Parts: sequence; C-alpha cells; structure tokens
Amino acid sequence: MSFAESIPLRRMKIVRYITSGQEVVHGSQQPDGSILRIEGDIFNDFTVTEEACFASRLLAPIQPSAILAIGLNYRKHAEESGAKIPEFPVLFTKGLGALQHPGEPILLPTHLRSTEVDYECELAVVIGRQGKNIPRENAGKHILGYTCANDVSARDWQKQWGGGQFCRGKSFDTFCPLGPALVTPDEIPDPGALGIRTFLNGRIMQDSTTADMIFDVPAIIEFLSGSTTLYPGTVILTGTPAGVGMARQPPIFLQPGDEVAIEIDRIGRLTNPVRAEP
Ligand code: ZN
Repeated sequence: MSFAESIPLRRMKIVRYITSGQEVVHGSQQPDGSILRIEGDIFNDFTVTEEACFASRLLAPIQPSAILAIGLNYRKHAEESGAKIPEFPVLFTKGLGALQHPGEPILLPTHLRSTEVDYECELAVVIGRQGKNIPRENAGKHILGYTCANDVSARDWQKQWGGGQFCRGKSFDTFCPLGPALVTPDEIPDPGALGIRTFLNGRIMQDSTTADMIFDVPAIIEFLSGSTTLYPGTVILTGTPAGVGMARQPPIFLQPGDEVAIEIDRIGRLTNPVRAEP
C-alpha cells in the first residue's frame, strides 16, 4: 500500500485553531495565509471545505496521545554535551501537560524552582497510523506529518536533581511548544535535509541541518516501534543540534521577557514568549 493510499493527506499545511464561535477545528492553510476549514478527522476521513475561517487563536496542530523524545541525536550536540555517540537512540518521554501552543508563553518554574531553563529546536514527527515492528522502509506510511517543537528543558532538574532521569526536567507545564502547522510528508521529500534554527530575542543560537542526525527519521521509527506499538497522535521529538544554552561559555538560560523562535525549512516558525510562572 502506498503512503497516499494509507493516509489521505496531500500537499497541506494543517493548522488547529479556535474559531470566533469558540469551536476547536482543523484547517488547511493556503499559500496566501487564509485558512479553509476541514470537516472530519485528520487521522481518518476528512474533507477540506470551501469555507474560509478566521482563527481567533492558533493551537498546537494536534493534541498528542504521547510525546516521545530522542536525546543526543545530533553529532555536534553530543560533542558539546561531552557525551559519546550513542549505540541506540536514547528515548525519554515528556508529559502531555507540557504541550504549549504557538505564541503562548513558556513558563519558567517558580514553585518547583528552576534557574536553568534552556531551549532545544527539534523536528517533530506525528504518527498517523498505528504500527509495531515497522521496518525503516515502511516508516513513511506511518507519518501523518512534521512540525516544529521546542524541547524546553530545566537543566538543573534534568541533571543534578532528576536522579539520572530526564523526565522531570522536560515535563513542566508549557515545556513542549508545537507548531505552527503540521506539514504533510509529500511537502518534505527528505526530512534528513532541512535547515533547523533557534533564535533567542532575534539572535541565532542554533543553526544546523537535520543531516547531522545520528539516527534519521526512519531509523527512529523502526527503533521506537520495536516490540512497542506506536499509536496515532504520538509525537516524536527527534533531537536537537548544537548550540543549546547550557553548552555556551558562559551558559545562557531563558529569562522572563525573552522570546524564542524555532524555525525549520519547509515547515515554518514557532515563536513563544518567556514568562515566570505566576
Ligand atoms: Zn531534546
């Protein structure tokens, strides 16, 4: 079965938003920026209507069913972290409550306090079709689309106070901005050849290409689905390139009033302001 037969999305940038009537709907973003409303379920059957829609608030393009993430997946980032090149992809999870929408704030934790909150630009892959033990040559049939992610990380909780586990430092509320659009795979012929960048207050901090990945997207899907069912709506963060704040001399961490933008070729730009947790 070809990819086109398995998932009916073609040549699209899909956005999710709240309408002026407070409905949550998906739409197909047109080249001129206008949005045509989608009727139905983007994971199954749907149609793009002729109805132009006004988005009163843009949301992350999907509500994830799980957020899986790969650590140390870019050669130069493994080097700057002082880590060995891993033998297998390094898997950790982020809490579903970490989801944040485009334009909404990243909140610096003040209750469970962190002073070392960092940005990580990542290519996010959204699974559209359930699968298990997926060989790399079939991985594309399970991909609904791609979007930008910021794998926001409290380094103090990730390292000193996390007991060796990444999950605490990566799962605070608002620590997983996603968006702005879900771009179908036929718009991205090679996910291993995309420029990927982070801007902090307009200054470029990470400037790389997905070609520096140690494990490419098909290898990640083959590994994550090994003896493990991947369900529709699973979001996979595929690792971050060099240039994170913690590896700089001196280190740079996010401060209230900052603005972080993640940009990936062919997908778009995901921008979030930074605030202290109220
Ligand atoms: Zn990451």
